[in-house]
Amino acid sequence: MTETYRNHIAGAWVDGETVDNINPSNTGDSLGRYVRGTKQDAESAIAAAKEAFPAWSRSGIQQRHDILKKASDEIIARREELGRQLSREEGKTLAEGIGETMRAAQIFDFFAGECLRLTGEIVPSVRPGIDVTMTREPVGVVGIITPWNFPIAIPAWKIAPALTYGNTVVVKPADLVPASTWSLVDILIRAGLPKGVLNLVMGKGSVVGDVIVKSPDVRALTFTGSVGTGRKIAASSVEVMRKFQLEMGGKNPLVVLDDADLKTAVECAVNGAYFSTGQRCTASSRLVVTAGIHDKFVDALTERLKGLVVDDALKDGTQIGPVVDQSQMSQDEEYIKIGRDEGATLLWGGERLNRSTPGFYLQPALFTDTKPEMRINKEEIFGPVASVIRVKDYDEALHVANDTPFGLSSGICTTSLKYASHFKRNAEAGMVMVNLPTAGVDYHVPFGGSKGSSYGPREQGRYAAEFFTTVKTAYTLP
Ligand code: NAD
Repeated sequence: MTETYRNHIAGAWVDGETVDNINPSNTGDSLGRYVRGTKQDAESAIAAAKEAFPAWSRSGIQQRHDILKKASDEIIARREELGRQLSREEGKTLAEGIGETMRAAQIFDFFAGECLRLTGEIVPSVRPGIDVTMTREPVGVVGIITPWNFPIAIPAWKIAPALTYGNTVVVKPADLVPASTWSLVDILIRAGLPKGVLNLVMGKGSVVGDVIVKSPDVRALTFTGSVGTGRKIAASSVEVMRKFQLEMGGKNPLVVLDDADLKTAVECAVNGAYFSTGQRCTASSRLVVTAGIHDKFVDALTERLKGLVVDDALKDGTQIGPVVDQSQMSQDEEYIKIGRDEGATLLWGGERLNRSTPGFYLQPALFTDTKPEMRINKEEIFGPVASVIRVKDYDEALHVANDTPFGLSSGICTTSLKYASHFKRNAEAGMVMVNLPTAGVDYHVPFGGSKGSSYGPREQGRYAAEFFTTVKTAYTLP
């Protein structure tokens, strides 16, 4: 019998209408029935978080540490099971699913430590005899809205700092992948979080998301997802005058210079553009290649793509899992058609594949002979599709790399210190990678983009304090 997974509101598991959580590797397989919350559920969750805030904001740091550490320990102990669940609901390979699960555990471990390292400052006033203290205080109820492509890591990197700094939470995962967040919330509740501190409202963006976004009681809202939704969240957040943080799309370039090590460049391209089925905001969807290495690079990359195993995410040996669902599949296929219609050469892949189970299998696609102004080079496709743009030299490569409204991650493959240093300074992106894939970041340092990719303070590491706290300056005349 399929199990039902409920929302968690005000310390209780709450029933409602359900929807099946479908495995994209095998559409006949359901992970279970997950409740789709109502507007009333979202309102109750916000009210519960508001009620729980005064006590949690004054809770001891040892208590917070112990809960986060316990959660981290349980995630590590259950990494195989949780990683399998993640791969089954999102479609990334089992190795990627377990890796992402471990990342969630590391994030909770890191923030458990941060609970014990909360600090402030004390400085003399310009008026003699007065002390000035600066402390970081929790913001209040934090709304967390997450996308489907990192079902456990993104909720983890928002929930962990929110709790660390004394905020209470209402979290809404993407409707497509509720299982990983459900498990995370279950673990944290059992680790000892008091009633109302962490509330889970699974459901549709237009229903429960809308209530969270419009509520004046949500004092900070952290969102990862598409630019379109981000814009709506920004407008509503200004309306109620709250803090907000948006992590959105990308059209990330990987520059390959004539002097690059060919093997490194090809591996960076394969990993950055195609791993996790290309469904990463940091995916290198534009491969900007200088003329001298262009043909060698394209040949070697195509050979490598021919050998990639596309199959069921849970199967041994699978390197590329399925696309997440039919709607994303249609989007990928539509862009492949657009690329051809624009005159690009589809050198490899792009066709739907049949495997032993019904799933959304797509052969990774590589376009060549593309121009920077083509739609496939301007718009985020969010699938296993990349295009090569041939350029004359480094200067043109840098110009093309920066010629996008996005600015999340930007990479270069070169053995030249001069070009690597220049690129690090001049790439218009929040994250720059030299001889590394554009995707794949650490959890203890800031994550985020520039230009149209991000808005607000950085996520992760100690920089997370900027968003999840507000600074209070107090003056005392003893
Ligand atoms: P999406 O914007 O469709 O959905 C994201 C979340 O917002 C979901 O939980 C959804 O239910 C909710 N939502 C949708 N409409 C809403 C509304 N009107 N009000 C409130 N909530 C609403 O994005 P997606 O398709 O889930 O994710 C893919 C996108 O996420 C891509 O653009 C990708 O680049 C981006 N992404 C960015 C990062 C980053 O850190 N920059 C990381 C991962 C994904």
